[in-house]
Amino acid sequence: MPERKQLVAGNWKMNGARADGIALAREIAEWAKEPHACELLVCPPATLLVAVGEALGGEALTGGDVRLGGQDCHAAASGAFTGSISAEMLRDAGCSHVIVGHSERRHGCGESDADIRAKALAAWRAGLIAIVCVGETLVEREAQIALAVVAGQLAGSVPDGATADRLIIAYEPVWAIGTGLTPTKRDIAEMHKAIRGHIPAGTRILYGGSVNPKNAAGILALPEVDGALVGGASLKAEDFWAIARACT
Ligand code: PEP
Repeated sequence: MPERKQLVAGNWKMNGARADGIALAREIAEWAKEPHACELLVCPPATLLVAVGEALGGEALTGGDVRLGGQDCHAAASGAFTGSISAEMLRDAGCSHVIVGHSERRHGCGESDADIRAKALAAWRAGLIAIVCVGETLVEREAQIALAVVAGQLAGSVPDGATADRLIIAYEPVWAIGTGLTPTKRDIAEMHKAIRGHIPAGTRILYGGSVNPKNAAGILALPEVDGALVGGASLKAEDFWAIARACT
């Protein structure tokens, strides 16, 4: 199996004015000068992409140490879609990655597997790496159908033709996002192993959901965990860096 370098990705969500984003990006870029074992990615709100890309050194797209990603994209390349941003626009703003199918879009905005699949295809069309999010709700976990739910999401949202160099899966149990709750390490390992059976060899699988500097080392030490998608803790450079330092 090809080597899978861990990736720590920060999802800033809808947070930050220009000055906050630039300051956070500069701090992360400073920390990132220290030795680290993982790749780093930040996904700021669309309004901050260009400024954050510049603060990171303007190298995000060309493989600089801290890469830049979008939080979502539209499936079309351009057109009459008020308020939306295309994958091509993200690429033009300096992005190398885009998150699609985050639970806040699946459950908050009613996006279907088919919508997410179309967005992943759009990401590839624009030359971006698609980070496809999957994860069960608490009701589904308690009903012991989490594995089946995630298998269904993978079947519906990951397009044919996926390859390990343009696809990343983020397993994010909905009930663990922003709650301080996390699955047991055994449950994370079980889910990651199951996901691996549905995706091309070598594809990275991130864990996301209340990762913080205290629990990161235990989660990132699991052999099936290829990194973390971090929400709240990515808004503080010191915490984001502590998580990155926990990579093996
Ligand atoms: C997320 O939104 O992708 C996430 C994992 O959030 P948090 O780390 O805050 O749970």
